[in-house]
Parts: sequence; C-alpha cells; structure tokens
Amino acid sequence: MQYQTYQSDKTSPRTAIVIGGGIAGCAAAYALAQQGIVVTLIDRAPHLASGASGNPRGILHARFGAGDNPLHQFVLAAYQHALRWLDEVLPVDGVARAQCGLLQLACNAVEVKRIGRLAQQTWPPHLMQFVDEKQATELTGIEMQFGGAWFPTGGWVVPPVLCAKLASDVRITQRLGHHAESLVKTATGWQVLGQTAQGLAWQEEADVLVVCCAHTAKNFEQFAHLKLTPVRGQISVVAQTQESQALHAVVCGDGYCAPSVNNEHVLGATHAFEDESKEVRSADHAENLAHLNAYAPSLRQALGERATQDWQGRASVRCSAPGSMPLVGRVADGLYCSLGHGTRGLLTAGISAEVLVAELCGLSTPLPQNILDELTPLRRVSTTRPRV
Ligand SMILES: Cc1cc2nc3c(=O)[nH]c(=O)nc-3n(C[C@H](O)[C@H](O)[C@H](O)COP(=O)(O)OP(=O)(O)OC[C@H]3O[C@@H](n4cnc5c(N)ncnc54)[C@H](O)[C@@H]3O)c2cc1C
Repeated sequence: MQYQTYQSDKTSPRTAIVIGGGIAGCAAAYALAQQGIVVTLIDRAPHLASGASGNPRGILHARFGAGDNPLHQFVLAAYQHALRWLDEVLPVDGVARAQCGLLQLACNAVEVKRIGRLAQQTWPPHLMQFVDEKQATELTGIEMQFGGAWFPTGGWVVPPVLCAKLASDVRITQRLGHHAESLVKTATGWQVLGQTAQGLAWQEEADVLVVCCAHTAKNFEQFAHLKLTPVRGQISVVAQTQESQALHAVVCGDGYCAPSVNNEHVLGATHAFEDESKEVRSADHAENLAHLNAYAPSLRQALGERATQDWQGRASVRCSAPGSMPLVGRVADGLYCSLGHGTRGLLTAGISAEVLVAELCGLSTPLPQNILDELTPLRRVSTTRPRV
C-alpha cells in the first residue's frame, strides 16, 4: 500500500476560516487549532450544531463490509480513529458519551449476508465479535430474535456537546449568526463575504478557507459542480417504560435504538432524498417504530402502545456524496472542504479533519493514498458508485 510522503518543506498557514459549525467544521477547526493556526469558525445559525449535528444523541455506527475496497477500509480506519479521538476530546462519562456496546442485528437477508461474510474473517475481539440470539439478549438486556455483530467499544455521543468541546479551543473565534454568501480569492488567501442575521454585511480574510457547510456548499460557485445530495432524516425521542429501561446497549437493524438516558430512548432514523424539510412528522415516527418492530420486536413491544403524534423528535438534513465517501481535501489553491458525511459524520468527521490538516500543513497523512484518492474533491466531480 502506498502512503503519501512527508513534506517537511511545506509552510503551514497562520490563519484559517472554517464555514460550518457542525461536526465536520468543528472537527476541522479543532485540528487546525492544534497546529497553532488561528481559526475563525463561521456559522449562519445563532449556535453551533444547528444542522444534522444537532441531534440529542447519535451512535457510532461502523457498518463494515467484507470486501477490501477503499470505502470499507475508510470506515474501518474512521471507526478506530473516532474511538481514540473521542477519548481525547469527549471521554466516556455516561452523559455526553457512553461506551455501552452496540449490536448490529442479522435481521434481514442483506445483513445476514454482510455479517456472515464478516464472520468468515478474523477480527480483534475488542473491535467486533459475532454473537447468537442468546448472547445478543444477554448483551443488550432485552430479548433479541437475531444474533449479529457486537461492537464492545460502540455506543453513543451527544453531538452538540462534542461540537462545543471542539470549538472551545482558545485559538478558535466563533462568528455565529453569520451567513456566508461568497468566496473570493485574494493575493494572499481567501475572503468570505456575507450577511449577519440582522442584515449587516461582513467579511473575513485568512490564509486558507475550509468549507464544511454540508449540501449548501453548492451555493458557492467554487462548489457548484460537486454532487452533494440533501437527505432528510428524523429521529424519534421516546419515553422509556418499565420494560424498555432494561436495554443497556445500542441495537441496530434498519434503524437504531439507544438505551434510555433521562428516561428517554432515541430511535432513528428515516431517509428521504431531496427533501430539506425540518418539520417533525408523525409518519416518520411511525416509520422508525415499524423498523424497530422488524429488527427488535421484543424491544418494540417493551415500548408499549402509544400514539406517535405525541412523540418528540428532530428532523434535519444529511449531506450525501457519491459512493458514500465524504469529499475531503483541496478544491483550489488555499481552498479546502470536508463535506458529504452522510449517515456517519460522528465516525468520519475526526479522521477527515486530520486528513485536511495533513494536506494543508504538509504533515504525514493518517490514511493510505488509495483512500485519499477516493476522498479528494478533485477526483470525484462526476463519478457515481453504488451505495453499500
Ligand atoms: C436524523 C439523523 C440521524 C443521524 N444519526 C447519526 C448517527 O447516529 N451517527 C452518525 O455518525 N451520524 C448520524 N447522522 C449523520 C450526521 O448527523 C451527519 O453526518 C453530520 O452531522 C454532518 O455534519 P456536518 O458538519 O457535515 O453538517 P451539519 O451538521 O449539517 O453542519 C453544517 C453547518 O453549516 C452551517 N451552514 C450552512 N450553510 C452556511 C452558510 N452559507 N454560512 C454559514 N454557515 C452555514 C449550518 O448552519 C450547519 O451548522 C444522522 C443524521 C440525521 C439527519
């Protein structure tokens, strides 16, 4: 495998602007700040994590594939990186992050085949183990009808807390309520022009610019050519019952359910392509519940019979890129991006930020060249690969 060479002669930038205060932007800002770069972090919303990164809880869902292709290699590397990275920035405390374990159930033909193929390979037991229904029941605390792949270090995090932690570095200045409208190349770097929530014009300038504002990046002419698709998703926040509070690990099938915290489970998530509505819909709650019924019927039963129109939830918009790989790296001289984190930003934002900073500062990269070739926005203008 060919690794990118270490470029010790490259000069690091002194200043950077990051557009987007979600997990991708906060991770990029943090990684830049760790290199001593002074960062201005811009978001149009009045607070960080107002987009897809704003859910009350998200899970570390590493859906490995058995084939040795760049996507599978990337997901594996991202998961292992995420665990180390989270230990540094958001140690397990049971409040903002839990390492309760995560079970991927072999609950349908696709998952039986995928997990079955994975089980034919050798995996370190701290990473992944294969369990039957009985072991699955013991590990999760609720009767499971299927076995599957058990991730002992899997669990959940509270994404807005993670974003706040990352953006709290003293070298990062937050400019919230600042809508970025255009990007202009200058003699020494890049200038961003926009308007505040009050309609006042503003501008910022820095040596480098990193765009992390998900699918709305396409509104900038420099990014208009990229294939970025908005995918609406809704989670359901469901009150625990006497029976459901026995759940003590995350279970995943065609969706996921996290153990209760403050008496509430998080159930996710729906997918609707090219839908940007953030309205919370009763029909989406019903869909989350129907999926739960398919992969964990006893857990569905444990939640009891309740009208979904009374449920709380949150809807937001993911940004999907072709081939389910994010777009990470240089777009033009001094202009970079971390976009298209799709359904697994909690896994991919950290390693993507490290890839960016390595490219930007001339450091050795955390990933081999064949994966970097798939991540680069320069190579992936019009390619489309099947989702796995
Ligand atoms: C319902 C649902 C459930 C999910 N569950 C999980 C999960 O369990 N685990 C997991 O790993 N992932 C999950 N995801 C995916 C994950 O949330 C995303 O991959 C991740 O949040 C993407 O982060 P981001 O920073 O790229 O985008 P966002 O969080 O959307 O951030 C983009 C930011 O850019 C800002 N912005 C946009 N345009 C501009 C502009 N012009 N000027 C200034 N600011 C701008 C926005 O205000 C926003 O804050 C889920 C997503 C959804 C929708």
